[in-house]
Amino acid sequence: MKGICILGATGSIGVSTLDVVARHSSLYKVIALTANTNIDTLYEQCLEHHPEVVVVVDEQKAKIFEEKLKNSAIADIKVLSGAKALEHVATLDNVDSVMAAIVGAAGLLPSLAAAKAGKTILLANKEALVMSGSIFMQAVTESGAQLLPIDSEHNAIFQCMPAGYKTGMPAKQARRILLTASGGPFREMPVDQLINVTPDQAVAHPNWDMGRKISVDSATMMNKGLEMIEACILFDMTPDQIQVVIHPQSVIHSMVDYVDGTVLAQMGNPDMRIPIAYSMAWPERFDSGVAPLNIFDVGRMDFHEPNLERFPCLRLAYEAIDAGGIMPTVLNAANEIAVEAFLNEQVRFTDIPVIIERCMKKFEVKAADTLEIILDADQQARLASAQIIGELNN
Ligand code: NAD
Ligand code: MG
Repeated sequence: MKGICILGATGSIGVSTLDVVARHSSLYKVIALTANTNIDTLYEQCLEHHPEVVVVVDEQKAKIFEEKLKNSAIADIKVLSGAKALEHVATLDNVDSVMAAIVGAAGLLPSLAAAKAGKTILLANKEALVMSGSIFMQAVTESGAQLLPIDSEHNAIFQCMPAGYKTGMPAKQARRILLTASGGPFREMPVDQLINVTPDQAVAHPNWDMGRKISVDSATMMNKGLEMIEACILFDMTPDQIQVVIHPQSVIHSMVDYVDGTVLAQMGNPDMRIPIAYSMAWPERFDSGVAPLNIFDVGRMDFHEPNLERFPCLRLAYEAIDAGGIMPTVLNAANEIAVEAFLNEQVRFTDIPVIIERCMKKFEVKAADTLEIILDADQQARLASAQIIGELNN
């Protein structure tokens, strides 16, 4: 029986993870669940899974939650609050696996704490890895932690790697990764109409049901930019070894091209329970609850090269990793602020890459060799982006 801690339990990935856990309750016991503010969903999850401890980051909500637990059948659940408590529950002795499913930079410290504590990390929170790159991988190596990618593309790539492959190692005889992308909802919209896109249109993804931030990232293709950086870090590759491929059907989740000309692909229905179940059962497999792929319904598969004019965010991600050092952190922070401003209808969809590019121009590249430097670059880039948004609106 393994103990699992789910960071970001109330989000899209968290909910899918608990769905898989419920199918395998003889193998996994829920030790800890965390939420930022969504205590209604958390309460339902507690009734079903009865964790030992929960974290509600927001202090006020945590108090309300504690009151709600009193005199209930689950009054014995311990309630913690504050961001520091996330690190505490991610490193508890009886936690073997940590699902890192907090969105954005907020997930960095708890995910890194799990890595340092030698846990099995099921990593959905790509922003954490983009920010901390080599520091994260070093923590994994030093502690003997196991890092398994949840992002469907990286999970697919991992599945296509040679037997015995460990993340962070050079991928022997693999010469290229073909990183697939759906192209999002605006793949075919005339470029001059992108300016009028609304938040509701942007979060309506054609193939995947996801949180709001990653849905906007998919629409701008910043998601693929972050994933390209994530792939470089996880699989020890250079950006020119990663070819982004637009594949609108989202049936192939990525491919690995080997020196002999063999290309291995992983396929399946677009449902995150597949990579989640794979990582939870690894190195075995078990049922994910996902229906078998009906290849006849798929019928055909298309592949196109991405257009960097339509998707400037993808270009910016290549520029950030080429610059190296703190630049991926700056890219990520500027993107988080720009996407939030777009979702709050403070800026237009097409302003997102403008804000990120202007922000990146304000920073000199410097090595990102300590956590302090990374956290400082993150903070500075957030401030700079907020200022750029203010200027745009004047
Ligand atoms: P979501 O918005 O649905 O959920 C986010 C979770 O993080 C929630 O539980 C929320 O309570 C928590 N959270 C938000 N801000 C927080 C903060 N400041 N402190 C602590 N907790 C906070 O997001 P999601 O779609 O589940 O995505 C989660 C992560 O997984 C992201 O990094 C995303 O890129 C990645 N991912 C998601 C999918 C998907 O299909 N949803 C696929 C691949 C990767
Ligand atoms: Mg993905």
